[in-house]
Amino acid sequence: MSSLRFKSIDNLSTNAEGKVAGSSKITAIFNENVFTLKTARAFLSDEAYKSLLNSVKGGKKIDRSVANQISAGLRQWAELKGVTHFTHWFQPLTGTAAEKHDSFFTLKSDGTAIEEFDGAALIQQEPDASSFPSGGLRATFEARGYTAWDPSSPIFIMEIGTGKTLCIPTIFVSYTGESLDYKAPLLRALSALDKSAVDVCHYFDKNVTKVTATLGWEQEYFVIDEGFFNARPDLVMSGRTVFGHEPAKGQQLEDHYFGSIPERTYAFMRDFEEESYKLGIPLRTRHNEVAPAQFECAPIFEEVSVGVDHNLLLMDIMDRVARRHKLRVLLHEKPFAGINGNGKHNNWSMSTDTGVNLLAPGKTPKTNLMFLTFFVNTIKAVHDYSDILRASIASAGNDFRLGANEAPPAIISVFIGQYLTKVLGDVKERVGDKFDEQDEAILKLDLHKSIPELLLDNTDRNRTSPFAFTGNKFEFRAVGSAANCANAMTALNTILAETLKKFKEEVDQLIEKGEKKEIAIMHVIREYIVSSEKVLFEGDGYSEEWHHEAERRGLPNVRTTPLALDAMITEKAKKLFEENGVYSHSELEARHEIELEKYIKRVQIEARIMGEMATSHILPPSFKYQNTLIQNIIGLKEVGLKESSYTNQKQILEKISEHIGKISELVEKMIQARKIANAISDTRTKAIAYNSQVKEPFFDTIRYHADKLELLVDDSEWVLPKYREMLFLR
Ligand code: ADP
Ligand code: MG
Repeated sequence: MSSLRFKSIDNLSTNAEGKVAGSSKITAIFNENVFTLKTARAFLSDEAYKSLLNSVKGGKKIDRSVANQISAGLRQWAELKGVTHFTHWFQPLTGTAAEKHDSFFTLKSDGTAIEEFDGAALIQQEPDASSFPSGGLRATFEARGYTAWDPSSPIFIMEIGTGKTLCIPTIFVSYTGESLDYKAPLLRALSALDKSAVDVCHYFDKNVTKVTATLGWEQEYFVIDEGFFNARPDLVMSGRTVFGHEPAKGQQLEDHYFGSIPERTYAFMRDFEEESYKLGIPLRTRHNEVAPAQFECAPIFEEVSVGVDHNLLLMDIMDRVARRHKLRVLLHEKPFAGINGNGKHNNWSMSTDTGVNLLAPGKTPKTNLMFLTFFVNTIKAVHDYSDILRASIASAGNDFRLGANEAPPAIISVFIGQYLTKVLGDVKERVGDKFDEQDEAILKLDLHKSIPELLLDNTDRNRTSPFAFTGNKFEFRAVGSAANCANAMTALNTILAETLKKFKEEVDQLIEKGEKKEIAIMHVIREYIVSSEKVLFEGDGYSEEWHHEAERRGLPNVRTTPLALDAMITEKAKKLFEENGVYSHSELEARHEIELEKYIKRVQIEARIMGEMATSHILPPSFKYQNTLIQNIIGLKEVGLKESSYTNQKQILEKISEHIGKISELVEKMIQARKIANAISDTRTKAIAYNSQVKEPFFDTIRYHADKLELLVDDSEWVLPKYREMLFLR
């Protein structure tokens, strides 16, 4: 009897007694563990508070003497809450957040024990960073990367069990000033967008002084019992199941979608939501997803940089809280083959400090022109830089999802809905070359009259597009569920910053030539519609026809990460990111290298675990059952029954033996292929080899034979928890 699997099934009833957290009113606990400006006001001197405020709102530097005052106030607040340690919290390129805890406790030279936390400790730290990926930017022996406080993100207290740690959001840079994290480039991209967008806003409203990009992510995930998780080495090591036959019942009944949430999962949700609220994560939505055991949560949108932090924190909280409930959260893009994967839709827009959402159609012709400007510029940006967007979401995990018939394809296109398609068509037709004052009627776009129609048209009509307009925001749907949103957001905000900059140059040129402002804007908008319309697609993105159509249109369809990443280091990319102050050439090259290395490691781990499990988990029960059948046949023969009484057994035996043979042979070949790939020194070539020589020829075929065995072998001997158990039992 395969003990771990059946023990897990036995334990389900006791595991299920998940304790529901106290039902606190959300407003009573929201931000409880955050050093908000309101809290800062209470704990800081006037001078320190003002300095902090200037830094948060205006990006002004905080000088050392004030930093000492701030750190003193912070420590006072933290100690009142029972905090003993602090850490610089940062987002290295590994994808998860990193921390290095130091205690407030220290010894004076005479040995007196005191608690201390000074301004220097707040502002800068040197984590021993030699083992974080640096893509060659920082030789490993030169371990002096440092973390620097980023006051634009609020400081918070992380509670783990009874331990409480003061977390200071920081950026992570090398000794020579190159960024080693996701956060610093994101902040630079947001500031580039701010500048370009404010300049363009001034055509419409001189009062705008700041444009903030906004992000509302939707996080999809699976929840399974901890016992099953522990009995699956593939889940433990790679986050996805490399073996497992589809269950008889999958998601075809769609009875899970928006169905009632199972009680045990509900307890877990309530619990992680409560922790999230304390950290100021404004979660608002929770529901079942399409696949069994799959769920989604989403917050109210926030400024991009805060939204990014909050998503990263949430993924960490979910993982920890799930363990408390003897559950495990699976954030991988494709934990189960043949069943929907996880995505992380990034809802994105921009808003001005005058309170206008730049992607919401306005109430007057003038604000509608402003909407149209930002709307069309976004389409143009996605059209011109679709390769860079594609690269920003590339990962080994996402390769299983993009284009897998239930997720947006790897082809980047934009969905805008029928109504706006017509509006763009009208603009294109009517703003001809001879556009003049008489045609100003076109400027009086009556968008506002059609807002209900427009919202209806765009809210949820097309789930197959990787980049869809949803009424007052775009939804970038191709982002991987396990990814840090920062990468996608850095790319998106940079390409828009660049496009808006060019837009302004072109409009200004026409104005200089004597064109009226609105007409100049309309002309450039028309040009942009014409030059980017091939990226617009309203049809079914999952369909085979779209793949052909996209090819005909010349839209790239890069299916694998190693090749998608090429777009990061083209001359075009270097120019784009450098001119907008987001990445230097060497930073881009380093990142390219790091992403390739991450890909290689992922595929390598999967290949190893696959080989190991085939030998240690799939074959042994198959041999056992093979023996049982042999004994059975011999026995029937011995007692003198004729051959027809054991033909069935013989057939099964033959099949089992064939699959066993194939698996042994393929695993051996895969090991050889891995060895060859490992010997390649160029990272890109190696990554390509890992895809084309290791993953593609072997993963699916080995799996095919293993999954067949799962159906043939005696269930009571099968070691690995089956899909039906992981997905349907709780
Ligand atoms: P749907 O479920 O149809 O996708 P929702 O209204 O539930 O639409 O929004 C999904 C996410 O989009 C939420 O996180 C929401 O806060 C976010 N969102 C709404 N407006 C904006 C905006 N202007 N900018 C960024 N995100 C937004
Ligand atoms: Mg949505």
